[in-house]
Amino acid sequence: MATDYDAPRKNEEDASEDSLEELKNRRNDKASGQVDEDEVEAAEAFELPGADLSHEELTVRVLPKQSDEFTCGSCFLVKHSSQLAETRDGIGYCVDCV
Ligand SMILES: [Zn+2]
Repeated sequence: MATDYDAPRKNEEDASEDSLEELKNRRNDKASGQVDEDEVEAAEAFELPGADLSHEELTVRVLPKQSDEFTCGSCFLVKHSSQLAETRDGIGYCVDCV
């Protein structure tokens, strides 16, 4: 009876360990093989349009006085200048955030 009880337990542990290691190995294989290339490609693909957009956004943010609007430095929403409550270091903060 005692050995009967032990046998299936051992098998179960062995099986789970095997599958865990297998999964780990498969994960590592996938990670080292795919993620590297994907990350490089994604970074390259994202950089060009991302840089263009951030330049435009930066221009708007840095020069909020060109229009009646400003970008709140706390909630990053574009608000009308009438809602400007405070300006610190050239960054405006809206009445909701101050
Ligand atoms: Zn705000």
